[in-house]
Amino acid sequence: MPLKALQESKIKSRAYLYMIELLPECSKRSSPVTDSLETEIEQHGKVKTGHYTDRIWMCHDCIESEEEKRRAKEQIILLLLLINVIL
Ligand SMILES: [Zn+2]
Repeated sequence: MPLKALQESKIKSRAYLYMIELLPECSKRSSPVTDSLETEIEQHGKVKTGHYTDRIWMCHDCIESEEEKRRAKEQIILLLLLINVIL
């Protein structure tokens, strides 16, 4: 790689690290999260995509696991209701 390109990529990489530090954090795992992920930032692998809802940021991984927990809870409630009906 020519020196100039190397320097440019170093500067870019530093700029991205700085940008990542400025991103909001996922409320569950404190990983940087954004709703508009540029591919170049994504390549850094540290940033997750997510949403800002109910005044908190959450990455898609945590949204999914929360959704699973919610579903599991519903299943248990349903099961308890069924048991109550049977007994
Ligand atoms: Zn998360």
